[in-house]
Amino acid sequence: MLNLPDAFKELLSLDQSEQSDFIDALNDSPPISLRVNPLKAHILNADGRVAWCEHGYYLNERPRYTSDPAFHAGAYYPQEASSMFLENVVKALELDQTAITALDLCAAPGGKSTLLRQVLGKNSLLVANEVIQSRVKLLEENLTKWGQPGIMVTNADPKQFASLGPAFDLVVVDAPCSGEGMFRKQPDSIDQWSLDSVKLCASRQKRILSDVWPSLKPGGILIYSTCTYNQFENEENLEWLTNEQSAIPVDLSNVPELGAKRVQRMGVNAFRFMPHIAKGEGFFIAAVRKDGSIKPSKNKKAKSRLDMRQFKNISDGYGVVADWQGNGFQVNIDQLATIEHISSTVKTTMLGFPLGRMIKDRDIKWGHGAAMLTNLSLNFPRIELDLLGALKFLEKQDIQDIKAPKGGVQVFFEGFSLGIGRVQQNRLISNYPTNWRIRKPAPEQYRRLVESVNR
Ligand code: SAM
Repeated sequence: MLNLPDAFKELLSLDQSEQSDFIDALNDSPPISLRVNPLKAHILNADGRVAWCEHGYYLNERPRYTSDPAFHAGAYYPQEASSMFLENVVKALELDQTAITALDLCAAPGGKSTLLRQVLGKNSLLVANEVIQSRVKLLEENLTKWGQPGIMVTNADPKQFASLGPAFDLVVVDAPCSGEGMFRKQPDSIDQWSLDSVKLCASRQKRILSDVWPSLKPGGILIYSTCTYNQFENEENLEWLTNEQSAIPVDLSNVPELGAKRVQRMGVNAFRFMPHIAKGEGFFIAAVRKDGSIKPSKNKKAKSRLDMRQFKNISDGYGVVADWQGNGFQVNIDQLATIEHISSTVKTTMLGFPLGRMIKDRDIKWGHGAAMLTNLSLNFPRIELDLLGALKFLEKQDIQDIKAPKGGVQVFFEGFSLGIGRVQQNRLISNYPTNWRIRKPAPEQYRRLVESVNR
């Protein structure tokens, strides 16, 4: 039985019977859910759909994801179900209908970024930002495995975005919070909870919101979310934004509730997820709009991060740009000016979708990203491995007795691209990124969850 602090229960402001339903639900086991990557896979074994997310599913038991090559191929992303409600809001506001520039400000490990990238229109640009440097690598890894183009990754403090001037049509702030909504999944976090920490989080969230606000275009939308229930980190922050920054609450009346609790009060239109009502953890999500008449502030310009000498026009509206370290990235040509503007102002770690290293004659030595990318077909011979072979490849071990000509190959498991390798004297050498390799596979626990769309 979870031991919930009295102050936490008081803040919930639920009547006796609802509070006891809530506590009963918190003492149940958390639902297990994932989101399938529709460009890579179909689900095979699910225990129902997530009502508010087209490709969201529940599972009846937690598989060992690290033993599943399809997980490493970006075929799905294990994600808490309530947080997938972001898709419902984005679609209801028709933000998926036009080409927009979007910023996911607090993005690591990348759950909302992979969701946004999938939901936004093909010609939209998603800038996924994470301020904590050690978490950026995981964000890059997850976006690369997801394999959808039209992305950038930045590593900046929210206040640095103000220097861009109004650059974004959509800003998503999935704020660092007191984590109340995760009590069921992480019971240890209950001991860290206090009213003081809630208030500290609320003031940090205000700072983040006011820092990023200038980078939202007039008329643009800011979606704010937390995984908490309390009003300090949620309703009060939005009221503050409405009062201090003249934010306008967005009418969410056309957003279907589908199990969420609708919140409507002065300055706030939002949804709250509670585990006794919807099948998911605690979550809060709201949207505000910037007044269309606010004057844009001036942009500052710094040194470009793009090596335009190395720009290479490919086809279908995409090209390759290099950074000054010689890494090549696939970019949508229509987004070049925006990418240049952003990368010259905030610290950028990925200018676009990572493809490999630039070599002389403006060619590319294909890297792992190229084998993950859904809009690119590599011209390598294909090698299909069985489960044990695939796990060895992902562990970066050599595989013997391979019957293929010498040279570069693209490696597959059940139709999922796992990466690039090299054949030498009947031996397959794995080029899987060292830092991403799996360390403890357990093939005996492998369970097939998805099937490749390309089979
Ligand atoms: N959006 C992510 C997802 O769906 O996978 C989860 C984001 S998590 C709730 C909040 C993120 O904010 C963390 O990655 C954390 O490192 C970052 N963060 C922490 N302090 C921050 C700050 N002062 N400004 C901006 N982001 C911060």
